[in-house]
Amino acid sequence: MSTKTCDAVIIGGGIMGVSTAFQLARRGLKQVAILEKGPHVASGSTGQSSAVVRLRYANLEVTRLAHWSLQMFQQWTERLELVENRSGFSPVGVVWIPGDEDDDPSRVLANFAEIGAAGEMAPTAELQRRYPALNLCRHPIDLAGKTHDCGAPAALFWEAESGYADPQGTTEDLLRAGQALGVELHARHEVTSIVSSKGGTFEVSCADGQRFSAGRLLNAAGPWCNRVNALLDVQLPMNMQPTRVQMAVRNRPQDVSGDIPVFISAGDQVYGRPEARGSQLLIGSVAAEDESERVEDPDDFDTNGSPEFRERMMHKLHHRFVMQSRGRVHGYAALYTVNTDDWHPIVDAVGPEGYFVANGFSGHGFKLGPSMGAMIARRMTDQALPDDPEVDVGYFAADRSPIHSSGGVLA
Ligand SMILES: Cc1cc2nc3c(=O)[nH]c(=O)nc-3n(C[C@H](O)[C@H](O)[C@H](O)COP(=O)(O)OP(=O)(O)OC[C@H]3O[C@@H](n4cnc5c(N)ncnc54)[C@H](O)[C@@H]3O)c2cc1C
Repeated sequence: MSTKTCDAVIIGGGIMGVSTAFQLARRGLKQVAILEKGPHVASGSTGQSSAVVRLRYANLEVTRLAHWSLQMFQQWTERLELVENRSGFSPVGVVWIPGDEDDDPSRVLANFAEIGAAGEMAPTAELQRRYPALNLCRHPIDLAGKTHDCGAPAALFWEAESGYADPQGTTEDLLRAGQALGVELHARHEVTSIVSSKGGTFEVSCADGQRFSAGRLLNAAGPWCNRVNALLDVQLPMNMQPTRVQMAVRNRPQDVSGDIPVFISAGDQVYGRPEARGSQLLIGSVAAEDESERVEDPDDFDTNGSPEFRERMMHKLHHRFVMQSRGRVHGYAALYTVNTDDWHPIVDAVGPEGYFVANGFSGHGFKLGPSMGAMIARRMTDQALPDDPEVDVGYFAADRSPIHSSGGVLA
C-alpha cells in the first residue's frame, strides 16, 4: 500500500482533533488528515459528553478559553462559514447553587469582569421566576431520608449566556468547516505504529495497513492517549488516567414545567440539564468518589450505569424538582482522561521533534474544544491568527507547575 504524504496527521477525531484540524487548515496547511479508529468523529469521550458550556473556572486563563468558545457558539455559522447550525447550542443559562459553606464569588466575578463575560450574582427570586420548577435549596439532601427545610441564599451566581450543546453535531460542524478547507477524515483507521525518522518525518501505520507520513503529528487520542504515546516511547510528566464516569437520564414529567437551566449544586454534588429538546432530564455527579474509577483498557469497560448510581441520582433529582409521576430512568457510563495532577490538559511538543500532544482534558474539555483547537494549532505551527484566544500557548506546557484548579471535574 502506498503512503499518503500530509502536512499534519492528527490521531483522534474527538472535538480536540477535529477542532485542531480546522484551525491548522485556517493557518494554511493544505493536507491535514484526521485518523479516527471509530466509525465517525466523536466516537470517544466527546460523543458521550454532557457538553455543558459554562465559564466559571478557578482561574482566569481557562475562563478566557471557555468564553472564547462560547462566543464561537454564539456566532457559529459565521465563524465556521456553514449554512446550517447543528451544534445544538442552547443558551439556557447556568445556575451555581452553593452548599452550606459560603460561596465567595469575588474572584470569579473579577475574572468575568476582566474579560467581559456574562456572570453575576442574581437575586434568587428573579432566578426562581425564570426557572420556576428548579429548587434552589443550598442544603444537601440526606440520602438516609432525614428531611430538612429547603432554603436558598438571597442571590446565586448565574451565567446568563451559557448553556449546553450537542457534542456530536458540534464536532461534525467543525469537521465540515475543516473539510471545506481541505481537511480529510479517515474513519475506521486505528493507528497501530509510528516510526519517526531522523529527517523529522513520522510514518504512521494503521491497522488496515494504510500509511500516512507528515512532519507534524498530534496525539489527540483522548482516553487512549497513553497507548499512542507508548508507540513513540513517550511518557508524559503528569499522570493521565482513563476514568469511568456515570450519568443518569429520566423522562421529564409534565409537572416539571417552564425553562430549565444547567444547574450545578455544590450541596448535592450534582449537575444537571435538560436533554432531548427538554423532554428528558440529565444528571451527573461532581463528587470526587464518582470520578475515581480508573480504567486500564479504554476498549474494555462497563458502559452500563449501576442501579446504585441511578437511584442516588434520582434521589438528588427529586430534591431539585417536585416530580409526582414515575418516569423511565436509564444510566450509562463513559470515559474521560483525568490529569490527576491538576485536571488540566498538556498541550505541548514532547518526544521527537514534530510530535505534539493534547491530552488530559478531564471532565471539562468539551467546551474548551473550539478555543483549544486554536491553541493547539498555534503550538504546532508557531503561527498566531488575529482572532486567537489571548492565552499564552505555554500555559499548558508539559513541564509546568500544577495549574490552580478546584481539584475535580469542575476544575
Ligand atoms: C460523561 C461525560 C460528561 C462530560 N461532560 C462534559 C461537560 O459537561 N462539559 C465539558 O466541557 N466537558 C465534558 N466532558 C469532557 C469532554 O467530553 C472531554 O474532555 C472531551 O470530549 C475530550 O475530547 P478529546 O478529543 O480529547 O477526546 P475524545 O473525544 O475521546 O477523542 C479521542 C478520539 O481518538 C480516537 N482514537 C484513540 N486511539 C486512536 C488510535 N490509535 N487511532 C485512531 N484514533 C484513535 C478515539 O476513537 C476518539 O474518538 C464530559 C465527558 C464525559 C465522558
